[in-house]
Amino acid sequence: MLYPKTTWRGSYSILRRSKQTWKKWLSTLNITDHQDMDYIHKVKRSEIVGLPIVHHHGYVSDLPIKHRFAMRKFHGVMRYLRKDNVISAKQMVEPTWIETADMCTVHTEDYVHKFLNGLTTKQEQRITGFEWNPGLVSRCRYETGGTLLAAKLALERGVACSTGGGTHHAFPEYGSGYCLINDLAIVAATLIRDKMVDKVLIVDLDVHQGDGTAVMFQHNDDVFTFSMHCGKNFPHRKQLSDLDIELDPGTQDEEFLESLSTHLPWVINSFRPNLILFDAGVDPHVKDELGKLNLSDQGLFDRDSFVISTALNLGIPIATVIGGGYQRDLDVLSRKHTIVHRAAMKIWSQHNMAIAM
Ligand SMILES: [Zn+2]
Repeated sequence: MLYPKTTWRGSYSILRRSKQTWKKWLSTLNITDHQDMDYIHKVKRSEIVGLPIVHHHGYVSDLPIKHRFAMRKFHGVMRYLRKDNVISAKQMVEPTWIETADMCTVHTEDYVHKFLNGLTTKQEQRITGFEWNPGLVSRCRYETGGTLLAAKLALERGVACSTGGGTHHAFPEYGSGYCLINDLAIVAATLIRDKMVDKVLIVDLDVHQGDGTAVMFQHNDDVFTFSMHCGKNFPHRKQLSDLDIELDPGTQDEEFLESLSTHLPWVINSFRPNLILFDAGVDPHVKDELGKLNLSDQGLFDRDSFVISTALNLGIPIATVIGGGYQRDLDVLSRKHTIVHRAAMKIWSQHNMAIAM
């Protein structure tokens, strides 16, 4: 099922940007700036102009101040997308939270019941990295709803991006590694259940293997899981994706991009998905505290541009999530996570210009 290409044309003229604009966007990535701005205004789904950006203030919930997981980065991503003039308010749309039945497409009913009601054991909570509280449940439901909305908008418009998502370490019966429910897997399974798509490709370029996602679809031919990650990193017990590419610690831009460009096109061409879900984790960055790979800002931008343009050139809708990223400076980290939106804006603009010419 392919979406009509004519819907891509909508608003290309206001998104036309010069090469200098892309360079300027990249140059703003490392500016530390604590000024806030009002970025909350959003439009209805039918009123979106340009590339859809999905965000909800409910992506964030309270954590202890020194917690390693930088929860407030989700606000930071949207703030810097607006502040750096990457997107307009007319692109921003708000999701509803995910339904319980959708969560049960890949998680066991027992786990969903325990997670929703705070019945997981202390040991189970320790593995997730979070002490359970009702705010975490709400946060996960909005974040997964955001990935679902981005996927649906991608089916309509070719590409759409959330400002959260990528909780790929959650397994059917338990959470793990800061991931409580698996948004990528839930969305893939929900769209297939609802017959909106037949086949989904999950491209996971977070530095950590998408182990939970791999397990959920290991016996399912309708979802192809492709994970490219650092071999010597969490999770130490790897699972079997449909395609795993393990990279050595210290891998740099050129080697990473060469490996990606060797594998992604044949995966898409042979599997022919109706939709790609792309986890654009920024933890392969050289300055990431948990990553162990050595990608630069430009390398991440080129990576994301390659994935999105390859999908669109082959006529496959693509929805992006931000995945992992670990740096203590919240401003720098938040801006790193906007690289995928900057790349999507560039490809969106170029693609629409190409159609218009
Ligand atoms: Zn990660």
